[in-house]
Amino acid sequence: MRKLASIQTVNAVEPIPNADAIEKIRVLGWWVVVKKGEHQPGDKLVYCEIDSLLPERPEFEFLRASSFKPAQTDATGAVTLPAGFRIKTVRLRGQVSQGICFPLSILPPGAPTEEGADVTDLLGVIKWEPPLPVGMGGKVKGQFPGFLPKTDETRVQILEPVLERNRGKTFYVTEKLDGTSFTAFIREGEFGICSRNLWMDEADESNVLVRVAKGLKLEEKLRAARERLGHDLAIQAEVIGPGIQKNKYALPAVTLRVFSVLNVDAYRLVDHGVKLEVLSELGLEPVPQLGTIVLDHTVDQLVAFSEGVSALNPKVQREGVVLRPLAEEYDEDIGGRLSFKVINPKFLLKYDE
Ligand code: ATP
Ligand code: MN
Ligand code: MN
Repeated sequence: MRKLASIQTVNAVEPIPNADAIEKIRVLGWWVVVKKGEHQPGDKLVYCEIDSLLPERPEFEFLRASSFKPAQTDATGAVTLPAGFRIKTVRLRGQVSQGICFPLSILPPGAPTEEGADVTDLLGVIKWEPPLPVGMGGKVKGQFPGFLPKTDETRVQILEPVLERNRGKTFYVTEKLDGTSFTAFIREGEFGICSRNLWMDEADESNVLVRVAKGLKLEEKLRAARERLGHDLAIQAEVIGPGIQKNKYALPAVTLRVFSVLNVDAYRLVDHGVKLEVLSELGLEPVPQLGTIVLDHTVDQLVAFSEGVSALNPKVQREGVVLRPLAEEYDEDIGGRLSFKVINPKFLLKYDE
């Protein structure tokens, strides 16, 4: 579970060239720009990650001018996300700053203060989500099914120990596409389609995911793959194109790019090589493949590595990269599959509104 707000220690304090009122501090694997002189290495503080939505409370009011987001509502007018202050990536005097820090004194009495303690709920912080794209409505069958893993990826900035432990290991790199998450499965004879968090009605074509699946004849393809592989399976993909995330890749039609094939019986990913074979047999395209790297990188080096233009459209910065080992491995720090994302800061500065 992602800790949006937690107790952390200042790892380093460094100057920013040509800035005399501000400096940068290192918290986990993040750099945060702060007022000069307020922090020393070793100090404990409350750190809120990017995409935190801070509640409308007096202690956060100073963020109103820069960060206020009104409540989001659905078609019936019900509030789907309350109003608050959204923390996002910014650049100050040329320095990228990600997240926000507060003194421990903003915590209520009796709050935990040990390093790593999760104070997200205590502070009323929730995760900011962009408004639902058009075409993502439609009839819902239920929550995301428990027999499949969700498609979330962990941010490299909280994984310094994981990078250390996996030094020397080969990872394959794919481009992280900025669309909307899609899962389709065959399980015990049943075909299903899911968005990031919901199991959709596969017969309701008002939903763009359902239309994409139909256009690609996914049900037939997955049934054929089930026969060939001998186990139930799912594919997880990013749906991209007109109407989705401003169609950054300038595509003429909505389509999908697959990043995972799952063995549903075993609740695990099919190995990378087999996945690519299966996809090419089915006539489905994978997300852009950027080769492999032998991990020997700091967080900052991986962030630099994530910068670059999209393989689908060289006119736009890519969102980032996702790194995974060639065969699924469990990682105790992640509390799940070893896999992580490195977001391109240039993309965040440009598109993350
Ligand atoms: P956020 O919710 O913070 O805006 P996000 O929606 O992109 O970010 P994350 O958990 O940050 O979700 O990243 C994982 C998501 O990235 C997956 O759900 C998937 O939809 C998407 N994705 C796009 N390209 C890839 C890729 N190459 N490999 C894995 N996931 C990818
Ligand atoms: Mn996310
Ligand atoms: Mn996304």
